[in-house]
Amino acid sequence: MAATSITGIKGFNDILPGEVEKWQWVESVARRIFSSFGFQEIRVPILEKTELFARGIGEATDIVEKEMYTFEDRNGQLVTMRPEATASVVRAFIEHGLHVRPTMRKLYTIGPMFRHERPQKGRYRQFHQINVEAFGIEDPLIDAEVIYALLTFLGELRIADLQVHLNSLGCPLCRAPFRARLAEYLAGVSHLLCDDCKRRRVTNPLRVMDCKVPSCRDVLAGAPKMLDFLCDDCREHFQRVQDYLKDLQVAFTLDPYMVRGLDYYVKTAFEVLARHLGAQNAVGGGGRYDGLMKAIGGPDLPGVGFAIGMERLIMLLGEGVGEGTPMRLCFLACLGEEARRRGFRLVQELRRSQVLAEMDYEGASLKAQMRKADRLGVTHVVILGEDELARGKAILRWMETKAQEEIPLEGIRERLTALLRKPDGEA
Ligand code: AMP
Repeated sequence: MAATSITGIKGFNDILPGEVEKWQWVESVARRIFSSFGFQEIRVPILEKTELFARGIGEATDIVEKEMYTFEDRNGQLVTMRPEATASVVRAFIEHGLHVRPTMRKLYTIGPMFRHERPQKGRYRQFHQINVEAFGIEDPLIDAEVIYALLTFLGELRIADLQVHLNSLGCPLCRAPFRARLAEYLAGVSHLLCDDCKRRRVTNPLRVMDCKVPSCRDVLAGAPKMLDFLCDDCREHFQRVQDYLKDLQVAFTLDPYMVRGLDYYVKTAFEVLARHLGAQNAVGGGGRYDGLMKAIGGPDLPGVGFAIGMERLIMLLGEGVGEGTPMRLCFLACLGEEARRRGFRLVQELRRSQVLAEMDYEGASLKAQMRKADRLGVTHVVILGEDELARGKAILRWMETKAQEEIPLEGIRERLTALLRKPDGEA
C-alpha cells in the first residue's frame, strides 16, 4: 500500500519558483530603499522567551492571549515563535548596547512571523514582514520620515491606490482618563457588543476599537475619541507630524478609531490601506512605542517604526512587475560518454561565467534531448557528438530560426558567453 502523502500545515505556505522571483525583487527594493533612508539590516532569531512578547506586546492583546505559537522546549523553557519583530529588535538593541553606538539607531529586518489566526485570503499563520525601526529620536520629524520611507518603498513597487490613516494614541498620562471614559461608554452599550468585546471592555477597552464585527463598529461610532483627550505635549507632537507630512506632500486621513493591535503604541499610529485587498486591507502599519524599551528592561529610549506584510504586498504587485527579464539559457545536447564528459565540463564553466546552461543527465537520444531543450525554452543548443568531438568541433543551433553552424571547441566558452551572458545591469 502506498504511504499517505504528508501535506504542509494549514496557514503555512510554500513559495514556488515563478512566484519567488517577486519576493526576491521586493526584498531587494526594500534593502535599497530603506538603506538609502539610513536603516541598517539586523537579523534576529525566530524563537524568543515568551516573556518578551507578553511584556512587550501586552498580556491582554489578541496576539498574546490566543495567537502565539508557544511551547516548552526540551529544557522546560517557555519559548514563542515570534508573532512580530519589534520586541525582538528592541531586545537585541538592548542586549548589544546599541544605544551607545549612535550609528546604529535605525534598523530594518525581513523575515517570517507566526500567529495562530484563522487563515483566509491575506491572512496566514506563517507570514512575512519587513520591519523598520528608529530608536532614540523623540522629534516628530522621525515619525514623518518613517511614514515617508514606507510610502517611498510602496511607490517604488508601483503600488497605487493606497490610503494613509493616521491617529494619535496619546501617552500614558492622557490615555488614562480617555480609557476610563471609554470604559464608561462601553459599559453603557455592553449588551450590543460581541462576546470578545464584552470581555475586552473590562480587560483592555482600547482593544474594542480594533474589533471588526459590524455591530461593534456601529457602537464605536458614538465612542469618545482619543484625539479629544490629548495632553498639550501629545497634541503638539501630533500636529507637527501632520505638518511635516504635508511638507512632504503626503496625503493622509485622520482616523480617530484606529488603535492598532499591540499595546505598546503611544502618540503616532498609522496604517496604510489598499483598496484592492478586500477584507484584509492593511498593507502595513506602525507607530511610536516610547515606553517599550524600558518595559523590556532597557534604557528609556523612544522608538518609532512599522511592519509591512509581504504576502499582501505581493498580491498588490501589478501584472509582470518584479518578474524580471527571462534569462537566456543554452542547452548542451551530448552524444556518447566522451561528449557527455566534455559537455559536463563546459556546462560548469559556462555557469561560472554567469551563463545559464543545462544538459541531459539521463543519456537520452538526440531527439529526446532536443525536445527537452525546447521545453526549457532555451535560445541556443550546442550539439556535441562523437564525430564533432573527434574533429574538435561542436554544432551551435539557434532554436528560433533553426539555423546551425559548426564552431570550434577551442574558445567555445568565450563564444557562448559573449552570445548569452546577461548584459550588465539587466535584472
Ligand atoms: P501588525 O504586526 O499586526 O501591525 O501587522 C502589520 C502588517 O503585517 C499588516 O498590515 C499585514 O500586512 C501583515 N500581517 C499581519 N498579520 C498577518 C497575517 N496573519 N497574515 C498575513 N499578513 C499579516
